[in-house]
Amino acid sequence: MSYQLNKKVSDLEPYEPISGNYRIRLDANESFLEIPEHVRADMLDRIGRLHLNRYPDPLASGVCEKAGRYLGVKPELITVGNGSDELLTLLTQVIMSKGEKLVYTSPDFSMYKCYGYLAEVECIEYRKDESFKIGVDDLIDLIRREGARMVIFSNPCNPTGVGISREEVLRLIEGAPDCLVVVDEAYMEFWNESVLDCVEKYDNLMVLKTCSKSFRMAGIRCGLAISNAKVTNALRAAKSPYNVNSMTQAAAETLFDYPHELDSATQAVIQSRDELYRGVTALAEKHPDKLSLLPTSANFVYIKMPSGEAKRIFEAMKAEGVIVRCMGDYLRITCGTETENAEVVRLLEVYL
Ligand SMILES: *Cc1c(COP(=O)(O)O)cnc(C)c1O
Repeated sequence: MSYQLNKKVSDLEPYEPISGNYRIRLDANESFLEIPEHVRADMLDRIGRLHLNRYPDPLASGVCEKAGRYLGVKPELITVGNGSDELLTLLTQVIMSKGEKLVYTSPDFSMYKCYGYLAEVECIEYRKDESFKIGVDDLIDLIRREGARMVIFSNPCNPTGVGISREEVLRLIEGAPDCLVVVDEAYMEFWNESVLDCVEKYDNLMVLKTCSKSFRMAGIRCGLAISNAKVTNALRAAKSPYNVNSMTQAAAETLFDYPHELDSATQAVIQSRDELYRGVTALAEKHPDKLSLLPTSANFVYIKMPSGEAKRIFEAMKAEGVIVRCMGDYLRITCGTETENAEVVRLLEVYL
């Protein structure tokens, strides 16, 4: 006899992000901006004064308070996680029971389905059409027909950059009262259709936020789940007690003590996104048979290409030290500095 892994995990492959040294990295939707020096200095000072022999604050109260102030939500309605990814794992494992139904949309963030699978919930796909908009009425029908307990999607969506309006999201929440609607607003800073202010109004709404994108802190692993008191208490009770380490807490607290820096970083990324979008759109107008794209509400563009072309161009760029994300017949390119945007547009044109 030898040790056998269970069937669920025996075929899983570890997530392998593109690693290595590239001169331009536009593959992971991080911010191209670092935090300013004075904020970094303050952060390091606070980290330097921590008592690392002690366990961290289990509820990350300081983060809840400061993030709550910045986001306009009550601190007691926030659960802090080791990245939104931890919160997603928790959600599928805690809020759902084995065998219950989770509806996810596609294309969307692939981890939703993955965590659902690991939690042994039944994952039901809602496929978007070419517009990449979620048809809210169809989605409500599907949720009701299946008796789904949770639906999750990103708004605006990674990887498409397309979102649905606040009114549509509210209609979904109201149309599926027995289903927890989890709206992943990882990119909502770059758009303006948040439902974060409605978490107390509804029984069945949760909003996820992250420090990894607009807030420029993918490295610290800090995500936020905001919901009503009942759902928040369940999540807080079920999480592991010391899930967010004290250095991350100190770093995140510092971040939210500089709201103007957060706002200006967001504005800079939006400018860069618009610039990249204009550059690629000009190419699409010149070569309509070779690439097309929809307007984006996030910090990246999602470009459709003829069969095989995305992969070919991805490889060619990689050989030049420029890394983007290849997803089937699409390239997803995160916006970068002015120079990086210009370079990636130039390379696109060369390889077309
Ligand atoms: C990047 C991203 C996140 C953030 O995940 P973290 O674990 O907080 O870094 C969450 N959802 C979506 C859709 C994302 O693209």
